[in-house]
Amino acid sequence: MKKVIMVKKRLANGEPCKKCGQVEEMLKRRGLWDQIDEVLWADETDPESPGMLLAKKHDVELAPFFLVEEGGETTVVTQAVVLAKKHLAAPQDRSRATRPAKATQPEAPKEPVAGPIGQDSIEAGAIELAGAGPLTIMTWMLERFGARCAIAFSGAEDVALIELAAQTGKQFSVFCLDTGRLHPQTYRFIEKVRQHYGVTVQMMFPQAPAVEDLVRRKGLMSFYDDGHQECCGVRKVEPLRRALNSFDAWITGQRRDQSPTRADVPELVWDTSHRAEGMAKANPLAGWSQQKVWGFIRNNDIPYNELHDQGFISIGCEPCTRAVRPGEHERAGRWWWEEATQRECGLHKG
Ligand code: SF4
Repeated sequence: MKKVIMVKKRLANGEPCKKCGQVEEMLKRRGLWDQIDEVLWADETDPESPGMLLAKKHDVELAPFFLVEEGGETTVVTQAVVLAKKHLAAPQDRSRATRPAKATQPEAPKEPVAGPIGQDSIEAGAIELAGAGPLTIMTWMLERFGARCAIAFSGAEDVALIELAAQTGKQFSVFCLDTGRLHPQTYRFIEKVRQHYGVTVQMMFPQAPAVEDLVRRKGLMSFYDDGHQECCGVRKVEPLRRALNSFDAWITGQRRDQSPTRADVPELVWDTSHRAEGMAKANPLAGWSQQKVWGFIRNNDIPYNELHDQGFISIGCEPCTRAVRPGEHERAGRWWWEEATQRECGLHKG
Protein backbone atom coordinates (compact mmCIF):
# COMPACT_ATOMS: atom_id res chain seq x y z
CA MET A 1 0.00 0.00 0.00
CA LYS A 2 1.53 3.31 -1.09
CA LYS A 3 1.13 6.56 0.79
CA VAL A 4 2.16 9.95 -0.60
CA ILE A 5 2.63 12.91 1.75
CA MET A 6 3.13 16.45 0.55
CA VAL A 7 4.91 18.86 2.87
CA LYS A 8 4.05 22.51 2.22
CA LYS A 9 5.62 25.54 3.83
CA ARG A 10 3.84 28.31 5.69
CA LEU A 11 5.89 31.51 5.78
CA ALA A 12 6.59 33.55 8.89
CA ASN A 13 3.93 36.08 7.82
CA GLY A 14 1.30 33.33 7.87
CA GLU A 15 1.04 33.12 4.07
CA PRO A 16 1.44 29.77 2.30
CA CYS A 17 4.57 29.46 0.17
CA LYS A 18 3.79 30.53 -3.42
CA LYS A 19 5.74 27.72 -5.05
CA CYS A 20 3.91 25.11 -2.94
CA GLY A 21 0.62 26.52 -4.24
CA GLN A 22 1.83 26.40 -7.84
CA VAL A 23 2.90 22.77 -7.48
CA GLU A 24 -0.48 21.86 -5.99
CA GLU A 25 -2.22 23.61 -8.90
CA MET A 26 -0.08 21.71 -11.40
CA LEU A 27 -0.92 18.37 -9.78
CA LYS A 28 -4.62 19.26 -9.83
CA ARG A 29 -4.50 20.30 -13.47
CA ARG A 30 -2.84 17.00 -14.35
CA GLY A 31 -5.50 15.02 -12.46
CA LEU A 32 -2.91 13.72 -9.99
CA TRP A 33 -3.97 15.51 -6.83
CA ASP A 34 -6.21 12.70 -5.54
CA GLN A 35 -3.09 10.53 -5.21
CA ILE A 36 -1.70 12.83 -2.51
CA ASP A 37 -2.88 11.12 0.65
CA GLU A 38 -1.91 13.74 3.19
CA VAL A 39 -0.70 17.35 3.31
CA LEU A 40 1.45 18.46 6.24
CA TRP A 41 2.59 21.99 6.95
CA ALA A 42 6.11 23.14 7.74
CA ASP A 43 5.50 26.30 9.69
CA GLU A 44 8.52 28.62 9.53
CA THR A 45 7.74 29.97 12.98
CA ASP A 46 7.23 26.55 14.58
CA PRO A 47 10.15 24.09 14.45
CA GLU A 48 7.89 21.48 16.06
CA SER A 49 5.25 21.63 13.29
CA PRO A 50 4.84 18.25 11.53
CA GLY A 51 6.39 19.44 8.27
CA MET A 52 9.38 21.05 9.98
CA LEU A 53 10.03 17.85 11.91
CA LEU A 54 9.91 15.80 8.70
CA ALA A 55 12.21 18.28 6.92
CA LYS A 56 14.69 17.94 9.75
CA LYS A 57 14.40 14.16 9.88
CA HIS A 58 15.02 13.79 6.14
CA ASP A 59 17.47 16.70 5.88
CA VAL A 60 15.41 18.57 3.29
CA GLU A 61 15.68 22.33 2.83
CA LEU A 62 13.31 22.77 -0.10
CA ALA A 63 9.57 23.23 -0.13
CA PRO A 64 7.41 21.64 -1.17
CA PHE A 65 8.71 18.11 -0.87
CA PHE A 66 7.04 14.72 -0.88
CA LEU A 67 7.45 11.49 1.07
CA VAL A 68 6.49 8.30 -0.68
CA GLU A 69 5.98 5.46 1.79
CA GLU A 70 5.78 1.99 0.31
CA GLY A 71 6.77 -1.48 1.49
CA GLY A 72 8.23 -0.11 4.72
CA GLU A 73 10.51 2.30 2.84
CA THR A 74 10.27 6.07 2.59
CA THR A 75 11.51 7.95 -0.47
CA VAL A 76 12.03 11.70 -0.33
CA VAL A 77 11.15 13.53 -3.55
CA THR A 78 11.92 17.23 -3.96
CA GLN A 79 10.70 17.75 -7.53
CA ALA A 80 7.03 17.50 -8.47
CA VAL A 81 7.83 16.35 -11.98
CA VAL A 82 9.86 13.45 -10.60
CA LEU A 83 7.03 12.57 -8.24
CA ALA A 84 4.53 12.61 -11.08
CA LYS A 85 6.70 10.56 -13.41
CA LYS A 86 8.07 7.99 -11.02
CA HIS A 87 5.58 7.67 -8.18
CA LEU A 88 2.11 8.63 -9.41
CA ALA A 89 -0.05 6.84 -11.96
CA ALA A 90 -1.13 8.86 -15.00
CA PRO A 91 -4.91 9.46 -14.94
CA GLN A 92 -5.46 7.49 -18.16
CA ASP A 93 -3.54 4.50 -16.76
CA ARG A 94 -5.78 4.44 -13.70
CA SER A 95 -8.97 4.65 -15.73
CA ARG A 96 -7.70 1.82 -17.93
CA ALA A 97 -6.95 -0.26 -14.85
CA THR A 98 -10.46 0.15 -13.43
CA ARG A 99 -12.38 -0.30 -16.72
CA PRO A 100 -12.32 -3.54 -18.73
CA ALA A 101 -10.65 -2.99 -22.10
CA LYS A 102 -12.74 -3.41 -25.25
CA ALA A 103 -10.95 -5.99 -27.38
CA THR A 104 -11.94 -4.41 -30.67
CA GLN A 105 -11.42 -0.79 -29.69
CA PRO A 106 -8.77 0.88 -31.90
CA GLU A 107 -5.87 2.65 -30.25
CA ALA A 108 -6.60 6.32 -29.61
CA PRO A 109 -4.81 8.61 -32.08
CA LYS A 110 -1.78 10.39 -30.70
CA GLU A 111 -2.20 14.08 -29.93
CA PRO A 112 -1.23 16.13 -33.02
CA VAL A 113 2.01 18.01 -32.60
CA ALA A 114 0.76 21.02 -34.58
CA GLY A 115 -1.35 23.76 -33.05
CA PRO A 116 -0.87 26.02 -30.06
CA ILE A 117 1.24 24.60 -27.27
CA GLY A 118 0.20 26.07 -23.96
CA GLN A 119 0.99 25.68 -20.32
CA ASP A 120 -0.87 22.38 -19.89
CA SER A 121 1.01 20.71 -22.76
CA ILE A 122 4.32 21.93 -21.40
CA GLU A 123 3.57 20.74 -17.89
CA ALA A 124 2.57 17.34 -19.27
CA GLY A 125 5.79 17.40 -21.31
CA ALA A 126 7.77 18.28 -18.18
CA ILE A 127 6.54 15.08 -16.57
CA GLU A 128 7.28 13.07 -19.70
CA LEU A 129 10.77 14.52 -20.09
CA ALA A 130 11.93 14.49 -16.45
CA GLY A 131 15.20 12.58 -16.50
CA ALA A 132 15.22 12.24 -20.32
CA GLY A 133 18.45 12.59 -22.31
CA PRO A 134 19.42 15.81 -24.14
CA LEU A 135 18.68 14.53 -27.64
CA THR A 136 15.21 13.34 -26.61
CA ILE A 137 14.44 16.73 -25.08
CA MET A 138 15.82 18.64 -28.06
CA THR A 139 13.82 16.50 -30.51
CA TRP A 140 10.65 16.94 -28.44
CA MET A 141 11.04 20.72 -28.53
CA LEU A 142 11.95 21.09 -32.19
CA GLU A 143 9.19 18.75 -33.33
CA ARG A 144 6.72 21.09 -31.68
CA PHE A 145 8.25 24.52 -32.20
CA GLY A 146 10.81 24.26 -35.02
CA ALA A 147 12.26 27.68 -35.89
CA ARG A 148 9.94 29.28 -33.30
CA CYS A 149 12.27 27.74 -30.75
CA ALA A 150 15.54 29.56 -30.08
CA ILE A 151 18.73 28.30 -28.52
CA ALA A 152 20.26 30.93 -26.24
CA PHE A 153 23.93 30.47 -27.10
CA SER A 154 26.45 32.08 -24.77
CA GLY A 155 29.59 31.33 -26.74
CA ALA A 156 30.78 28.66 -24.30
CA GLU A 157 30.22 24.92 -23.83
CA ASP A 158 26.51 25.35 -24.58
CA VAL A 159 27.65 24.90 -28.18
CA ALA A 160 26.63 21.29 -27.38
CA LEU A 161 23.03 22.47 -27.77
CA ILE A 162 23.64 23.55 -31.36
CA GLU A 163 25.21 20.18 -32.15
CA LEU A 164 22.21 18.39 -30.61
CA ALA A 165 19.78 20.55 -32.58
CA ALA A 166 21.72 19.88 -35.78
CA GLN A 167 21.62 16.14 -35.06
CA THR A 168 17.81 16.19 -35.00
CA GLY A 169 17.75 17.48 -38.60
CA LYS A 170 14.93 19.84 -37.63
CA GLN A 171 14.60 23.61 -37.88
CA PHE A 172 15.75 25.79 -35.00
CA SER A 173 16.92 29.34 -34.29
CA VAL A 174 19.93 30.66 -32.38
CA PHE A 175 20.52 33.97 -30.66
CA CYS A 176 23.40 35.32 -28.65
CA LEU A 177 23.50 38.23 -26.21
CA ASP A 178 26.37 40.52 -27.18
CA THR A 179 26.88 42.64 -24.09
CA GLY A 180 29.74 44.54 -25.72
CA ARG A 181 32.02 43.14 -23.00
CA LEU A 182 32.75 39.65 -24.34
CA HIS A 183 36.29 38.32 -24.83
CA PRO A 184 37.75 38.62 -28.35
CA GLN A 185 38.09 34.82 -28.25
CA THR A 186 34.34 34.50 -27.71
CA TYR A 187 33.54 36.68 -30.73
CA ARG A 188 35.88 34.55 -32.84
CA PHE A 189 34.23 31.40 -31.52
CA ILE A 190 30.69 32.62 -32.28
CA GLU A 191 31.77 33.29 -35.85
CA LYS A 192 33.36 29.82 -36.06
CA VAL A 193 30.11 28.21 -34.88
CA ARG A 194 28.11 30.22 -37.40
CA GLN A 195 30.29 28.91 -40.21
CA HIS A 196 30.66 25.36 -38.88
CA TYR A 197 26.92 24.74 -38.61
CA GLY A 198 25.77 27.14 -41.33
CA VAL A 199 23.33 28.73 -38.88
CA THR A 200 22.22 32.32 -38.46
CA VAL A 201 23.23 33.56 -35.03
CA GLN A 202 21.04 36.52 -34.19
CA MET A 203 23.22 38.88 -32.14
CA MET A 204 21.23 40.88 -29.60
CA PHE A 205 22.77 44.19 -28.52
CA PRO A 206 21.82 46.32 -25.52
CA GLN A 207 19.95 49.59 -26.02
CA ALA A 208 22.60 52.27 -26.59
CA PRO A 209 20.85 55.01 -24.51
CA ALA A 210 20.60 52.67 -21.50
CA VAL A 211 24.28 51.71 -21.70
CA GLU A 212 25.33 55.31 -22.18
CA ASP A 213 23.29 56.40 -19.17
CA LEU A 214 24.75 53.66 -16.94
CA VAL A 215 28.33 54.41 -17.97
CA ARG A 216 27.84 58.17 -17.61
CA ARG A 217 26.48 57.75 -14.07
CA LYS A 218 28.69 54.96 -12.77
CA GLY A 219 31.56 54.36 -15.14
CA LEU A 220 32.56 51.16 -16.89
CA MET A 221 33.22 48.93 -13.88
CA SER A 222 30.40 49.73 -11.45
CA PHE A 223 29.65 46.03 -10.94
CA TYR A 224 32.77 45.62 -8.79
CA ASP A 225 31.36 48.18 -6.34
CA ASP A 226 27.63 47.65 -6.21
CA GLY A 227 27.05 44.24 -7.79
CA HIS A 228 26.47 43.03 -11.30
CA GLN A 229 22.66 43.18 -11.40
CA GLU A 230 22.29 46.68 -12.86
CA CYS A 231 24.82 46.19 -15.64
CA CYS A 232 23.47 42.69 -16.44
CA GLY A 233 19.98 44.17 -16.47
CA VAL A 234 20.95 46.65 -19.17
CA ARG A 235 23.34 44.52 -21.18
CA LYS A 236 21.71 41.08 -20.88
CA VAL A 237 18.19 40.94 -19.47
CA GLU A 238 16.59 43.65 -21.58
CA PRO A 239 18.06 42.30 -24.85
CA LEU A 240 17.00 38.79 -23.83
CA ARG A 241 13.40 39.95 -23.37
CA ARG A 242 13.43 41.55 -26.80
CA ALA A 243 14.85 38.37 -28.32
CA LEU A 244 12.27 36.12 -26.65
CA ASN A 245 9.43 38.24 -28.01
CA SER A 246 10.16 36.72 -31.42
CA PHE A 247 9.83 33.11 -30.24
CA ASP A 248 7.42 30.68 -28.57
CA ALA A 249 10.06 28.62 -26.81
CA TRP A 250 13.70 28.81 -25.81
CA ILE A 251 16.45 26.41 -24.93
CA THR A 252 19.31 27.03 -22.54
CA GLY A 253 22.45 25.18 -21.46
CA GLN A 254 21.68 25.31 -17.72
CA ARG A 255 22.77 22.26 -15.72
CA ARG A 256 21.91 21.24 -12.20
CA ASP A 257 25.58 20.67 -11.30
CA GLN A 258 26.63 24.21 -12.26
CA SER A 259 25.86 26.04 -9.04
CA PRO A 260 23.69 26.07 -5.91
CA THR A 261 21.34 28.44 -7.76
CA ARG A 262 20.72 25.78 -10.44
CA ALA A 263 20.29 22.67 -8.30
CA ASP A 264 16.59 22.42 -9.19
CA VAL A 265 16.72 23.22 -12.89
CA PRO A 266 14.06 21.10 -14.65
CA GLU A 267 14.31 19.63 -18.15
CA LEU A 268 11.22 21.56 -19.26
CA VAL A 269 9.21 24.32 -17.64
CA TRP A 270 6.54 26.90 -18.41
CA ASP A 271 8.53 30.09 -18.03
CA THR A 272 6.89 33.39 -17.10
CA SER A 273 10.11 35.17 -16.08
CA HIS A 274 10.38 37.29 -19.17
CA ARG A 275 6.93 37.23 -20.78
CA ALA A 276 3.77 37.57 -18.73
CA GLU A 277 1.85 35.17 -20.98
CA GLY A 278 4.56 32.57 -20.54
CA MET A 279 6.50 30.38 -22.94
CA ALA A 280 8.22 27.01 -23.00
CA LYS A 281 11.76 26.78 -21.72
CA ALA A 282 13.85 23.63 -22.05
CA ASN A 283 17.17 22.80 -20.43
CA PRO A 284 18.26 19.65 -22.28
CA LEU A 285 21.60 19.46 -20.42
CA ALA A 286 19.97 19.78 -16.98
CA GLY A 287 20.93 16.27 -15.89
CA TRP A 288 24.38 16.17 -17.47
CA SER A 289 27.59 16.78 -15.59
CA GLN A 290 30.36 19.03 -16.86
CA GLN A 291 32.39 15.92 -17.73
CA LYS A 292 29.53 14.52 -19.80
CA VAL A 293 29.18 17.75 -21.76
CA TRP A 294 32.90 17.72 -22.53
CA GLY A 295 32.80 14.04 -23.49
CA PHE A 296 30.05 14.93 -25.95
CA ILE A 297 32.00 17.89 -27.35
CA ARG A 298 35.14 15.80 -27.85
CA ASN A 299 33.38 12.71 -29.23
CA ASN A 300 31.55 14.79 -31.81
CA ASP A 301 34.56 16.95 -32.69
CA ILE A 302 32.60 20.11 -31.90
CA PRO A 303 34.44 23.46 -32.07
CA TYR A 304 34.88 25.12 -28.69
CA ASN A 305 35.94 28.48 -27.27
CA GLU A 306 39.75 28.65 -27.02
CA LEU A 307 39.40 30.19 -23.54
CA HIS A 308 38.55 26.71 -22.26
CA ASP A 309 42.17 25.73 -22.95
CA GLN A 310 43.30 28.59 -20.70
CA GLY A 311 41.44 27.42 -17.58
CA PHE A 312 38.11 29.11 -18.22
CA ILE A 313 35.08 26.91 -17.66
CA SER A 314 31.95 29.05 -17.40
CA ILE A 315 32.44 31.97 -19.78
CA GLY A 316 30.61 35.30 -19.72
CA CYS A 317 31.76 38.91 -20.03
CA GLU A 318 35.49 39.60 -19.90
CA PRO A 319 35.51 41.77 -16.73
CA CYS A 320 33.30 39.30 -14.85
CA THR A 321 34.91 35.99 -15.84
CA ARG A 322 38.21 34.51 -14.81
CA ALA A 323 39.96 31.18 -15.14
CA VAL A 324 39.53 28.79 -12.25
CA ARG A 325 42.19 26.75 -10.50
CA PRO A 326 42.14 22.93 -10.68
CA GLY A 327 39.49 21.62 -8.29
CA GLU A 328 37.64 24.94 -8.08
CA HIS A 329 33.98 24.93 -8.98
CA GLU A 330 33.24 26.23 -12.48
CA ARG A 331 31.04 29.10 -11.26
CA ALA A 332 33.90 30.26 -9.03
CA GLY A 333 35.14 32.09 -12.10
CA ARG A 334 31.99 34.24 -12.43
CA TRP A 335 31.39 37.39 -10.32
CA TRP A 336 33.87 35.95 -7.81
CA TRP A 337 33.63 39.02 -5.59
CA GLU A 338 29.97 38.25 -4.83
CA GLU A 339 28.16 35.58 -2.75
CA ALA A 340 27.78 32.21 -4.54
CA THR A 341 24.00 32.44 -4.20
CA GLN A 342 23.97 35.79 -6.06
CA ARG A 343 25.88 34.59 -9.13
CA GLU A 344 23.05 34.70 -11.66
CA CYS A 345 22.62 37.48 -14.18
CA GLY A 346 18.82 37.56 -14.20
CA LEU A 347 18.39 35.48 -17.37
CA HIS A 348 17.16 32.46 -15.47
CA LYS A 349 14.87 33.74 -12.77
CA GLY A 350 12.96 30.79 -11.47
S1 SF4 B 1 28.54 39.99 -16.75
FE1 SF4 B 1 29.55 41.86 -16.00
S2 SF4 B 1 30.00 43.14 -17.80
FE2 SF4 B 1 28.56 41.51 -18.41
S3 SF4 B 1 26.59 42.45 -18.30
FE3 SF4 B 1 26.92 41.44 -16.33
S4 SF4 B 1 27.93 42.92 -14.97
FE4 SF4 B 1 27.99 43.74 -17.07
